[in-house]
Amino acid sequence: MALAPRNTLILIFAAVLAAAALAAYLHFAEGKPPHVRMDPLPTHAIKGSAFSLEVTDEGQGLRHLLVQAVQGEQQISLLEETFGLDQHAWSGTFTLPRRGLNDGPMAIVIKVTDKSLANRGAGNPTLFQHTLTYDATPPRISVISHAHNLNQGGAGLIVYSLSEEVASSGVMVQDVFFPGYRQESGVYLSLFAIPFDVDPLKHRPMLTATDPAGNTAQVSFPFHGNQRSFRQATLNISQAFLDNVMPQFQNVFPEAEDLLERFLLVNRELRAQNINFVRSLAATTAPAPLWSEVFARQPRSAPLGGFADHRTFMHNNEIIDHQMHMGIDLASTPFAEIIAANRGQVIFTGDLGIYGQTVILDHGLGLHTLYAHLSQILVNTGDMLERGQILGRSGITGLAAGDHMHFETLVSGIPVNPIEWWDEQWLRHNFWSKTDLLGEQFQ
Ligand SMILES: [Zn+2]
Repeated sequence: MALAPRNTLILIFAAVLAAAALAAYLHFAEGKPPHVRMDPLPTHAIKGSAFSLEVTDEGQGLRHLLVQAVQGEQQISLLEETFGLDQHAWSGTFTLPRRGLNDGPMAIVIKVTDKSLANRGAGNPTLFQHTLTYDATPPRISVISHAHNLNQGGAGLIVYSLSEEVASSGVMVQDVFFPGYRQESGVYLSLFAIPFDVDPLKHRPMLTATDPAGNTAQVSFPFHGNQRSFRQATLNISQAFLDNVMPQFQNVFPEAEDLLERFLLVNRELRAQNINFVRSLAATTAPAPLWSEVFARQPRSAPLGGFADHRTFMHNNEIIDHQMHMGIDLASTPFAEIIAANRGQVIFTGDLGIYGQTVILDHGLGLHTLYAHLSQILVNTGDMLERGQILGRSGITGLAAGDHMHFETLVSGIPVNPIEWWDEQWLRHNFWSKTDLLGEQFQ
């Protein structure tokens, strides 16, 4: 039986309606869940750790967002948002509470739904979870060594232990950080210094430790600082010096119009660059002392310039510059054999601007010795040298007027007075008496 035209129309109309409803349903009940991006995703968190969060939805838009900190049965709400019409993106921050959480594992749980009609109208859910270790307890620092008597421009050693593994620990002096190194016995040694230009009566060193979560503890320790004043020295920069020494720096400062201008660029800019480079080697060090004897002073040598001399440079009776001299100049005979001051590993050989041909040794715990103006280098980077081993010959390379060897001792890149390290009694009071603590109490 053929359908009457009127009924056919109704059926067609009904079919179109159903198709439209299905299309609308498929449109409003889309199945694309919201997207969550949390940053950072750390392994550890502390009180008040902050996170940024971005949620987006490509379909019908965001409906609801809930962020919780979950520890066992406990759920702490950190953030909740209900969204209006047509909101497809939201970004903001949330922080962990300052109380209520316990040290240990926890999860950050983020639940987002969208406005899709899927799931019987409840929307598409996205569940994002990040687990981490909550740690709100800073490391406990116990200072083991007793006396710390430092001279301005001098060094000292502190022995301490920590209640937990740390990301870093060491001594802060003004704005300089001297890292501590964990020894086999589990205690830490930090070799630190009072830079020559820091007044030890005004800047008390502090011992700090930061755990992997970022909790920092800071303690003071027994400390006595001795102020020191340093010498003034005047150096005459003669025309002969400029003629002899400056040509080697032609390539470094080709723009200089004359030798005096080039000298000033070398003395200021190249010096600063070279000092920065030496300091950049600070962390290239063994975590324990590589040496056991007193440091050797270059034999049969006379000191020409002292540590932390304030040098005034004159030319034609005019003051042209001021610089600090951070080592001791030792002269004997030309091309004298230069010895390693102590057992250590070669970490640098080569040309180093104002220092000329240079060797730098690491002795462990951030302690370096530097030998400059050499005419010849007889060792290679990586070599382990014994105390007294010949590493090169003295010379006049770099910013040097006559044959000598410029010697520096550095603690974590900060020049310190070499005289202390040549002094057996100073070492006994300030170094060995402390490393002995490791042997008796901790090994
Ligand atoms: Zn020098």
